[in-house]
Amino acid sequence: MSKQSKNPETIALHGGDYRSDPATTAVAVPIYRTTSYQFNNTGHAANLFALKEFGNIYTRIMNPTNDVLEKRVAALENGLACVTVGSGQAASTFAIVNVCQAGDNFVSSTDLYGGTVNLFTHTLKKLGIEVRYADPSDPKNFEKAIDEKTRCFYAETLPNPALRVFPIKEVSDIGRKHNIPLIMDNTAAPIICKPLDHGAAVVVHSLTKFIGGHGTVIGGCLVDGGNFDWTADPKRQPLFNEPDMSYGGAKWGEVVPQLTGANVSFAVRARVCLLRDLGAPLSPDNAWGIIQGLETAPLRMQQHCSNATKVVDFLQKHKNVERVIYPTLHKGAIGDRTKKYFSGGNGALVGIEVKGGVEAGKKFIEALKMFYHVANIGDARSLAIHPATTTHSQLTPEELLAAGVTPGYVRLSIGIEHPDDIIADLKQALDASGKPSLKAVS
Ligand code: PLP
Repeated sequence: MSKQSKNPETIALHGGDYRSDPATTAVAVPIYRTTSYQFNNTGHAANLFALKEFGNIYTRIMNPTNDVLEKRVAALENGLACVTVGSGQAASTFAIVNVCQAGDNFVSSTDLYGGTVNLFTHTLKKLGIEVRYADPSDPKNFEKAIDEKTRCFYAETLPNPALRVFPIKEVSDIGRKHNIPLIMDNTAAPIICKPLDHGAAVVVHSLTKFIGGHGTVIGGCLVDGGNFDWTADPKRQPLFNEPDMSYGGAKWGEVVPQLTGANVSFAVRARVCLLRDLGAPLSPDNAWGIIQGLETAPLRMQQHCSNATKVVDFLQKHKNVERVIYPTLHKGAIGDRTKKYFSGGNGALVGIEVKGGVEAGKKFIEALKMFYHVANIGDARSLAIHPATTTHSQLTPEELLAAGVTPGYVRLSIGIEHPDDIIADLKQALDASGKPSLKAVS
């Protein structure tokens, strides 16, 4: 019964087909700390390697602990299959190199995490893959950037710092017209937004954030929506339609549905080619750590979102706050998108411009007592950072502005502490940010 549940609270605890450990009947998911798996006989081994049978081969490619996490995240996202990897960065890298090879390009939203900008602009460029940036404020910008070598669209659901909810359906509709899949990084909005339901073909997550939720483990994953036809336009998706000589000439778009009965070519290729060749698996210990977080993630998301709403109300009234940035505060189409794509909350991320620019922003951060000053989001604890001098510091001034990072911007990731305590800490730090420093007084 729980397997069919559509409720995230139930899926997080019972999703996938794990009921108890087959060997011991242990209820909590065990950590399978093994590199390898005993084959029944040579025929069994050969079948596994030839993908004639599915089963465990080697932990770089799959592991039973990771498998439980993968099935639960796939179910939470309404996807068909999921592949875990060692970090959110690895997930973004795999997402692109699973569809693009040297000479290809992809179109990405300008509203991105700074680390993803570095990956796309510099590292992928060195591998011969070109990123073309499109401003998502007009979805048609994605169409304008396409040519015959464009293999996918990429965007974040709730990109910070601007917190402008991405036009998921608008851009995925454009992509589907051209047989181009939309890949969505849903790191900042698990549970409250389901991009696959709005036309995205693939979701990636940094599991490090809200899903892990405790700031203890780095991890990432790719979820295959099973809703994209990789064979509809063979020229558009050569990696799924041309023979793969690293796998006996397999055409992934054809062979995976034949073998599995499911449209999960993206996930299978990511697992058996990319994990095999590039490595970067999520360790079973870390998969277990993330499962501990996942089991309560739906409840934490409710508290994150409800606290953030109270914080936004408070900040809007404080005299030392120039501007508050939150998805629901955007007017027009962007505000409408928040209502269209989000349910059960509007996220934990809140941006503020502290009055007095960079100096006041720094003073504010240094005066915080309960908030941690860290380069992370989505921890159960409340967190703060000044992006222009940290997470986004490797971007050019133009890239900074395109990403919405102004000099005085402070990003808050609202935790699940009691809202009164969160607001009290913000209040005393904001009050301090407006006071002249001792140096100025003397
Ligand atoms: N995507 C987003 C939206 C992020 O915020 C981050 C990290 O901050 C990443 C991806 C990368 O994830 P990880 O730190 O797990 O590599």
